[in-house]
Amino acid sequence: MIERGKRMEYQSTRNAGYRADSVQAVLEGIAPDGGLYIADPAEIPFDWQSVLRCSAREMSARILQALLPDFPDMRGLVEKAYEGKFETEDLTPLVQVGDRYVLELFRGPTSAFKDVALSVLPQLVTAGRSLEGAEGDVVILTATSGDTGKAALEGFHDVPGTRIVVFYPYKGVSRVQELQMSTQKGKNVRVCAVRGNFDDAQTGVKKIFAACSGRDLGGKTLSSANSINIGRLAPQVMYYFKAYADLLAAGRIGMGEEVCFVVPTGNFGDILAGYYARRLGLPVGRLVCASNQNNVLTDFIRTGVYDRRREFYKTNSPSMDILVSSNLERLLFLLCRNGEKVADYMRRLSEEGVYTVEKELLTELQSDFACGCCDDEASLRTIGEVFRQYGYLMDPHTAVAWNVSGQVRETVGGMPMVVLSTASPYKFPTACLKALGGSPDEDEFAVMRQLREISGMPIPRNLAGLQEEPVLHTDVIGKEDMLDYVLRYLAE
Ligand SMILES: *Cc1c(COP(=O)(O)O)cnc(C)c1O
Repeated sequence: MIERGKRMEYQSTRNAGYRADSVQAVLEGIAPDGGLYIADPAEIPFDWQSVLRCSAREMSARILQALLPDFPDMRGLVEKAYEGKFETEDLTPLVQVGDRYVLELFRGPTSAFKDVALSVLPQLVTAGRSLEGAEGDVVILTATSGDTGKAALEGFHDVPGTRIVVFYPYKGVSRVQELQMSTQKGKNVRVCAVRGNFDDAQTGVKKIFAACSGRDLGGKTLSSANSINIGRLAPQVMYYFKAYADLLAAGRIGMGEEVCFVVPTGNFGDILAGYYARRLGLPVGRLVCASNQNNVLTDFIRTGVYDRRREFYKTNSPSMDILVSSNLERLLFLLCRNGEKVADYMRRLSEEGVYTVEKELLTELQSDFACGCCDDEASLRTIGEVFRQYGYLMDPHTAVAWNVSGQVRETVGGMPMVVLSTASPYKFPTACLKALGGSPDEDEFAVMRQLREISGMPIPRNLAGLQEEPVLHTDVIGKEDMLDYVLRYLAE
C-alpha cells in the first residue's frame, strides 16, 4: 500500500462544487464542467528563499511538492524525469546577452521549452495511476501548435499504462516539427493532422473530454498533456526560481530585488507559471506577455476586452499562433476568486467570441502584467540585429519576446530583464537563416547546415538525426472527425 502525501484541494475555475486532490486533478486533466483545476499558490506555506540555494532538480522537487502535495515521493519522480535527458545539469541555463538575460529553456530532448514539464508529467501520471489503483490505460489527448506534441510523445511513448494521441494543425507546423512527430516510434502513440488551425484542434480535444465525461471507456481514462493540466503547468514554475537564483549567485541582484520576465506567449501557460512563482513569494516584477501578430492578449491586457473574432495569422512563430489562450482562465479566477464570473466569461467567449472584464480586475491585472506584440518582419529583424550585435542566435519565438522587451523598457524602469527562450533556432531554421540574410534551400535539413556554418552553434542531435527516420504517421482528418478517431482508437 502506497501512502499518500498531504491532501490539497483543487477546484474547477468555473464551479467550486467540482473538487479534486492534486493526484485526481493531474489524472483528469480538466474538470468535468470544462473548467481548469486550480488552487491558489499564495495560500501554500512556502519558504521561497531557501529553495534558491538548491540544485535545479531539488528546486523542482520542492516546488512540485508544494503545488502537488498528494504525490508522496516527488524527489524520486523528478530524478527519474530528468535523468540523462537534458544537455546540462542545471536544466535551464541563463545567458547574458547585452544588458539583458536569456533563459534557455530548450536544452531538453525535443529542443523546446515544453520538455521541462513534459519530462515530469508522465512520472506524475504513472505515480497517480498507481495511487488511485487504476487498472485501465490513461489516454493522453493533446492538441499541439507544434512543440507540445513532440515533447509529449517523447515523454509518454512506451510508458506502461498510458497511451497518447496528438492532434496538430495540418500544414500549420514547420517541416521540422512535423517530422519530429510523424517519425515518432512507440506502441502506444497516435499522431494525426487535423484540417484546421490550433484553436480548432484544441476545441476538438475539449469537446472529446466533454463527450466522454461519465461515459464508459472500458476502464480507460482520458487526460491531457496541454497546460490545461495542472501537472503540465506546475513543473514550469521552477525555471523562474532557477533564473532568479542564478542572478543572485552571479551578484547581479540582491535578495528580494524584483526581476522582470518577458515571455513569448500562446496558450498563457508559460507566463502563468511565472505568476505562480510570484504567488509562491518569488520577487517577480512585471510579467511581460509577448505576442506575435495574433495579438489578442496584447489587446486584452491593454483594454480588458478579450475578442477572438479576428483574422488568424500563420506566422513564423507558429507555437504562438493561438487566439484562445486557455490558461488565462486560471489567471482570471485567481484575480476575482469567483467561479460563476469566470464561467460567464468563458460562456461568452464560446458563444459570442468576446467578453469584457470588470474595471477592478483589469487594474489588478495591469499591475502584474505588461504586454507587447510584434509581427514577422520585426521578429526577423530582431534575430538579425541581436546576432550581429552580440553573436547570439535566437529562434523566432524568442525574438518576439526580445523585441517586446525593448518596447516595455520604460514601463519596467531599471529592473533586470530576463527573456525566456522557448525553442532552439534549429527548430525554425528557414526563418532564422532568412533573418541572417542567407538564402534558404527548400530542404530544411540543408538549411540547418547553412545555419550552422554562419552561427557556429551545434545542431541538437535530436534534430540532426531526424532526416533518416522513417515516417510512421500519415493520418489527416477533418476537425469534426476527432471524436470518432479517438473512440476508434480506444476500442482497439
Ligand atoms: C508553446 C510555445 C510557446 C507558448 O507557450 P504557452 O505556454 O502556450 O504560452 C512559445 N514558444 C514556443 C517555442 C512554444 O513551443
